[in-house]
Amino acid sequence: ILAEKRLLVTGAAGFIGSNFCHYWLKNHPQGILAAYDVLSYAGNHHNLDGLESHPGFHFVQGDINDAALVESSLRAHDINVIVHFAAESHVDRSIHDPDAFIQTNIVGTHTLLKMAKSLWLDGPEGPVPHRFHHISTDEVYGTLGPKDPAFREDTPYAPNSPYAASKAGSDHLVRAYQHTYGLSTTTSNCSNNYGPYHFPEKLIPLIIVNILHNKALPIYGDGQQIRDWLYVEDHCRGIVAILEQGREGESYNIGGCNEWANIDIVQLVCRKMDALFASNPRWSEQYPQAAPALGRNSEELIQYVRDRPGHDRRYAIDADKITRELAFEPAVDFPTGIQRTILWYLEHPQWWQQVMDGSYRHWLDTQYGAV
Ligand code: NAD
Repeated sequence: ILAEKRLLVTGAAGFIGSNFCHYWLKNHPQGILAAYDVLSYAGNHHNLDGLESHPGFHFVQGDINDAALVESSLRAHDINVIVHFAAESHVDRSIHDPDAFIQTNIVGTHTLLKMAKSLWLDGPEGPVPHRFHHISTDEVYGTLGPKDPAFREDTPYAPNSPYAASKAGSDHLVRAYQHTYGLSTTTSNCSNNYGPYHFPEKLIPLIIVNILHNKALPIYGDGQQIRDWLYVEDHCRGIVAILEQGREGESYNIGGCNEWANIDIVQLVCRKMDALFASNPRWSEQYPQAAPALGRNSEELIQYVRDRPGHDRRYAIDADKITRELAFEPAVDFPTGIQRTILWYLEHPQWWQQVMDGSYRHWLDTQYGAV
């Protein structure tokens, strides 16, 4: 579509955004990529470590609500593609404090769209080639019963949490900017991601880190909530497929064809952790407080807790469209992806320790001033 893509990636220091930046620059070592992130509690500058060596990599600390900074960043790097990940992303937090979700996910997305329109469509030379890709979630479609068919791109939106509603609002704005003004947009709605750099408030990293501390593994309700899971690098590959060949104005579901109940995932992680500790004494030496190092079966740590209010029962993705149109299929099967993820956390204790003890926040304050 665009021969040379010069990217502004919002939310670049978060879980998926940082994986995407690594993936993109691995495949476009000379490419221009401006990583834009406010560095909220979920953003970690260390997630981008190693990318400074790329000549076209730039980091901008900023809020997507800051129209002037968005505009100057787009101009400074002559950006022609926005890949928009920035969001408040944690459902539980959205239940306790929805305001931040409305501000970033809806108002912030609108600010980006406005600035993209003003630069790419309304400039003195008239419209210039561009693309705005919006990253969204399968949660906009609501919940499914056990026998319901999986979500398709034309499934009506029925968001149930403030998070899902705010993402649905942003999806509609992206659609409206395409339909009304002719902004060249695409949207992807993806299922649950897992992999490196995942913030330890989310299920899989939480389970890994709690096993390493011999702490309880909390399971909401009966643990039978079903989600589709996708390895984060596969999500990045899907986004690239859309950037390369996706049709303007279209949305694409991205999924793993991989439905799991929460309790089954937790048990899988427990078994894999116990097997890794049993097969390599290095892990018990490095993590003497881990349940398997103490001779415990990690599954003993499972503890059922009160369910999340309004907890959706099942999400499932029908990803036939992206497979058919863009020949995209996930490459990493779940047991392999889980094994890779566990090994990444075992090998990067400094990463999750910094995230959890707040020392990287201190580093940030000294680098950039208090956020
Ligand atoms: P994350 O919480 O790990 O990262 C979000 C990033 O956005 C953080 O680095 C944060 O600092 C930044 N950010 C937040 N508010 C900002 C603002 N106002 N201005 C600039 N930056 C801001 O989230 P994630 O899991 O990486 O999710 C990324 C995107 O993918 C989100 O849009 C989310 O809705 C979507 N998504 C996530 C999943 C998943 O399983 N994690 C699945 C489908 C879709």
